[in-house]
Amino acid sequence: MRAVVTGGAGFIGSHLCDHLIARGHRVTVLDDLSTGSLGNLVQAQGSPGFRFVEGDVLDRDLVDSLVSEADTVFHLAAAVGVYNIVDNPLRSLRVNLHGTENVVESAVAHRVPYMVASTSEVYGKNDADGLKEGDDRVYGPATKSRWSYAAAKSLDELVAYVHGVESGVPCVITRFFNVVGPRQTGRYGMVVPRFVDQAMSDEPITVYGTGTQRRCFGSVFDVVPALPLLMDAPEAYNQAVNLGGHEEVSIKGLADRVVELTGSRSPITFVGYEEAYGEGYEDMQRRYPDTSLAARLIGYRPERDLNDIIR
Ligand code: NAD
Repeated sequence: MRAVVTGGAGFIGSHLCDHLIARGHRVTVLDDLSTGSLGNLVQAQGSPGFRFVEGDVLDRDLVDSLVSEADTVFHLAAAVGVYNIVDNPLRSLRVNLHGTENVVESAVAHRVPYMVASTSEVYGKNDADGLKEGDDRVYGPATKSRWSYAAAKSLDELVAYVHGVESGVPCVITRFFNVVGPRQTGRYGMVVPRFVDQAMSDEPITVYGTGTQRRCFGSVFDVVPALPLLMDAPEAYNQAVNLGGHEEVSIKGLADRVVELTGSRSPITFVGYEEAYGEGYEDMQRRYPDTSLAARLIGYRPERDLNDIIR
């Protein structure tokens, strides 16, 4: 099989390349190296049939020529990371919406099965008691830059789904929940690599907000094998499937765990959301995935716990 992986020089994409190559597939990566790097592809480079193409998913002709030669497409290229999105909301919208449009339209035109990476962010923040106008977390003015990502990803899902249903070309949408592992960088606000970097250099570990907000972190080594399995599961077609981990932890608890496992002397300090991300930023108190659909479809059962992930 020849697979195209957009965003293949990134964190999840590069692990997917290694996984596919180990199973004998030929892989072409399309990546503009905006947040990814060639260093992530050291293992893949030199493998038979591996090809790296530096380019933009907004380049319609380039996308079309690569997809036309493929048997399957994994679309992971996106503008990601809270800092990146808040600083460049328009760029984030354009890449995440039009990039997906290009990939999906080419996939459908050449009848190539496709997977589109989405996010738990599409669930928004739905815990308000009586909904007021300012509560529309996806498009609301107070948090508009933060949610350009969620808005684009929601529309991506729709683009992927509608094309999949109308064309009959196999389509799978994957909603990632806080996927973590080697090669992920803390530069754009990802909390686990940021805490680990701070701990390893004995700098203060900066918890944003009160630290009582709870998250579940999934290992990239549990999530990545699920992607080709879903592409081979016809019952998964035209569905959005949650993928993530199951061990829930508060962010302060995560900081404690990182200090313990690294043997660091770092103190834990608290920084307000406004100071970290700018005015109007809010975060959800809890995010926990129900992965029973993936379990039913492909027997998905995450095996790595938080300690494995941090190590
Ligand atoms: P990443 O930044 O490591 O990977 C994204 C890759 O896309 C990078 O290599 C980047 O250079 C590339 N890219 C960005 N814009 C591009 C463009 N215009 N043209 C070509 N390439 C471009 O991030 P990741 O964590 O590996 O994310 C991969 C996918 O998974 C993304 O679609 C992201 O939205 C989604 N996702 C990830 C998580 C997570 O926890 N890591 C959670 C939810 C969703």
